[in-house]
Amino acid sequence: MKELKIFSPATVANVSCGFDVLGFCLDSIGDEMVVRKTDKKGIHITKITGYDLPFDPEKNVAGVSALALLKDVQPDFGFEIEIYKKIKPGSGVGSSAASAVGSVFAMNEILGRPYNRTELTNFAMKGEALASKSEHADNIAPAIFGGFTLVKSVAPLDILQLPTPNDLWAVIIHPQIEIKTAEARAILPKNIPLKDAITQWSNVGSLVHALHSNDYDLLSKSLTDVVVEPHRSKLIPHFDLIRETVLKHGALGCGISGSGPSIFSLSHGHKKAQNVAEAIQNVFVKTNIPFEIYISKINTQGIKIL
Ligand code: ADP
Repeated sequence: MKELKIFSPATVANVSCGFDVLGFCLDSIGDEMVVRKTDKKGIHITKITGYDLPFDPEKNVAGVSALALLKDVQPDFGFEIEIYKKIKPGSGVGSSAASAVGSVFAMNEILGRPYNRTELTNFAMKGEALASKSEHADNIAPAIFGGFTLVKSVAPLDILQLPTPNDLWAVIIHPQIEIKTAEARAILPKNIPLKDAITQWSNVGSLVHALHSNDYDLLSKSLTDVVVEPHRSKLIPHFDLIRETVLKHGALGCGISGSGPSIFSLSHGHKKAQNVAEAIQNVFVKTNIPFEIYISKINTQGIKIL
């Protein structure tokens, strides 16, 4: 095989209570990429459509992760990468992770799959570090493994795949405002009260149990974040209004997607998700802030060949 076209999905990191460890994968939004083996050694980004991003492989997350894999393989050929960007950079649904994952997934397929998914996560984290200044896997892991994932530890890398209830849908609203990840990090407290920590780990535990037991009510009760959301939600205009609206229209819960500005909500079934999306649409349109809404079933497959 010389060339491959892939779909690299958007992802939601944190999932309310699981700051920096939990994530899930979407399927109605994602980038496409074409990766091609070439005689010319090295990594060459030859085409980018959709958004203005650097062609220099050392400045593009897709290039950085690809270079990390290439350094390990040291082949006597190289790869060309085309990026058809659909996920807006900085939207909070794993734009950089999709690129970082896409290049190494496709290269691994072309090379005959020398690496497993955890090893690919490691290479992709090198790319993600370019965008966020730290190596983290909470968007990368769900993009590679699909469904819900929990990053048990980063060093050594240990990813747990969690089950996905069979009729779980996400609605994402992306207000078109910019939140710098650095600012969203700087706003967080260095220490948290023990009582908040107890609430948070009880919610993470019950959320994981809800996923295992297909328990939508428990899932709903677990989607609460008392540690990060109270601080970060201040950066997102009308966050409380969105939450009130989605809960009133039958969503199981909602929270900030990654470091925002996107907000995710989860619903049991497509119809309820559609109701939630319509309700957000009707409310948010009055704010005069431009926005996009996506409805997606939880994608249990993850990144795939097209
Ligand atoms: P998101 O959470 O949506 O991935 P980030 O703020 O983490 O957003 O990452 C976006 C940053 O990464 C932007 O500064 C962007 O210029 C940079 N970047 C470099 N290469 C890429 C790429 N291939 N895709 C997306 N973002 C990239």
